[in-house]
Amino acid sequence: MGRYDGRVVVITGAARGIGFGTATRFAEEGASVAVVDLDEAAASEAAGRLPLTEGARAVGIGADVSDGASAQAAIDRVVSELGGIHVLVNNAGITRDNLLFKMTEDDWDLVMGVHLKGAFLMTKAAQKHFVEQKYGKILNLSSVSALGNRGQANYSAAKMGVQGFTRTLGIELGPFGINANAIAPGFIATEMTDATAARLGIEVDKFREMNAEANPVRRVGFPEDIAAAAAFLCSDEASYITGQTLYVDGGAKLG
Ligand code: NAP
Repeated sequence: MGRYDGRVVVITGAARGIGFGTATRFAEEGASVAVVDLDEAAASEAAGRLPLTEGARAVGIGADVSDGASAQAAIDRVVSELGGIHVLVNNAGITRDNLLFKMTEDDWDLVMGVHLKGAFLMTKAAQKHFVEQKYGKILNLSSVSALGNRGQANYSAAKMGVQGFTRTLGIELGPFGINANAIAPGFIATEMTDATAARLGIEVDKFREMNAEANPVRRVGFPEDIAAAAAFLCSDEASYITGQTLYVDGGAKLG
């Protein structure tokens, strides 16, 4: 018996990184999973690698979460292809880092569009089903960068926006049996942080080592660390938790 037997979980940006790690965990725990990502071929390939349990299914869906019609079409496909929707994880993300004086309007709009507007559009499309069935779990990906990070004015604002969005979802949707929470990861070893290393001209292993040394638990995080927290927050064991942001960062911001 898995915690997610018979449940349908949708995860955006799940072709790789934290999204794929989280999709893997939900699949292990019995869920049918929709892998949503920009590139349908990559999403389908990732869906094909999930460790599904008996009777569970996976589908890859190409969608741009920052586009209203695309987000709606993705949710429609999940419902028609997997027979329903119970959990939405808004994980898709991009970075366009630069110091404020060099940051362009496009850098700002793109980051806001994917993280903040994307979470809004996907949630709006999914909540109709959640409200009708009086059941739903929403999980949004914030970041420790919400607390401020040099070179990330756009990303930091979007990620703190995600926390306010999550609190408001908790208030509005709680009466309908819907929980909404956020996870704010610290440094997680994925292509996103590898790209940051490249931008700073530091080797990936060295960059991870530097981040591990600066962290109270003396290691970097992995997608599995976020997946474990996600699987708890979207479970029925967590039904009295809503509107919260859980920092999963090895204590990175404690000092
Ligand atoms: P990642 O490896 O870069 O994966 C992000 C995925 O999102 C990619 O597959 C990407 O597709 C997809 N995506 C981008 N824009 C999209 C859009 N408009 N519609 C649909 N999919 C889109 O990132 P990650 O490190 O796993 O991060 C996942 C989430 O955690 C993000 O929200 C990120 O901000 C957050 N986070 C990460 C860290 C970290 O240390 N890694 C820390 C804190 C928070 P393409 O490959 O086609 O671009």
